[in-house]
Amino acid sequence: MSALLEVRDLQVHFPIGARLLRPPAGVVRAVDGVSLSIAEGEVLAVVGESGCGKTTLARAVLGLTKPTGGVIRFRGGDVALQSTAERNAYYRQVQMVFQDPFDSLNPRKTVLQTLAQPLRIHSIVPAGEFRAEATRLLELVGLSPAALYLDRYPHQFSGGQRQRICIARALAVRPSLIVADEPVSALDISIRAQILTLLRRLQQELGLSYLFITHDLGVVRSLCDRVVVMYLGRVVEEGRTEDIFAGPRHPYTNALLAACPLPDPVRARARKRATLTGDVPSPVNPPSGCRFHPRCPVAREICGRDEPAAREFGPGHRSACHFAAEADTWERPAWQLAVTAE
Ligand code: SF4
Repeated sequence: MSALLEVRDLQVHFPIGARLLRPPAGVVRAVDGVSLSIAEGEVLAVVGESGCGKTTLARAVLGLTKPTGGVIRFRGGDVALQSTAERNAYYRQVQMVFQDPFDSLNPRKTVLQTLAQPLRIHSIVPAGEFRAEATRLLELVGLSPAALYLDRYPHQFSGGQRQRICIARALAVRPSLIVADEPVSALDISIRAQILTLLRRLQQELGLSYLFITHDLGVVRSLCDRVVVMYLGRVVEEGRTEDIFAGPRHPYTNALLAACPLPDPVRARARKRATLTGDVPSPVNPPSGCRFHPRCPVAREICGRDEPAAREFGPGHRSACHFAAEADTWERPAWQLAVTAE
């Protein structure tokens, strides 16, 4: 598969404490040398705790945050070097679905007005066809019959319906890539599965690619082809979803897997948890050596001194851990093999 989006050594740093004539007191290294790629029609998950830099990465891909360094290429072209016309074409190809469907819709606009805006800006269809196109989009996302929704306002809908409207708005410009930032985490648990099923169906029917940002590996398993795990601005592990679930090669991934909720209370009680201690360190002054070492349950002396390089442990499966080769000896959640064997 050819790369649709390619990110190389991306850095997004934010100076803090700068005042007039006073230099910054420090730098938040929100994204600090991240590389990844997404193929046409592929779903890539970026996972990690709050503060790991995954949302900043998504914002940089969308051009909402200016990178400090590195390169973002879309279909081979450097996004930073685009002309205005090329940049407009890029925004037509790359769309976003935000976490909170309550905040991401204008409360003063009807659904028809919301959907007509991208249709008009990007000249997708003539103005006389806005209603018909909005109807098609609503039915595509499962809001049918569309006539019940078109002339109503966001406050008249549930969270799940609003997120469907947000997805319809993203689809209005017929994009190739959708950046979805925690698209189900603000929804009731009963609605999440419906939205995930919708995203999967749309991806298959329309051949879309997703950059799927989440802190929940349980969500990833049902939707994503590959996973990138971030910690404190860096990629610590990446691989195919089935490989990550069957045999994580980084203690941080192992701990994230152990934190996945289990629907079966017997398994939930029986499993061992690879729990993490302490908070995520400050990205202003990250720990020396391996950034994960103050919280790592299997850290040794070398970990605080030398930063581990990423090494390959199978096709596309890379881990940045000095002791990744010993992963089979780590304490694994007892449910893990059973789950992956389903
Ligand atoms: Fe843990 Fe050391 Fe591996 Fe870092 S390099 S994840 S501290 S074992």
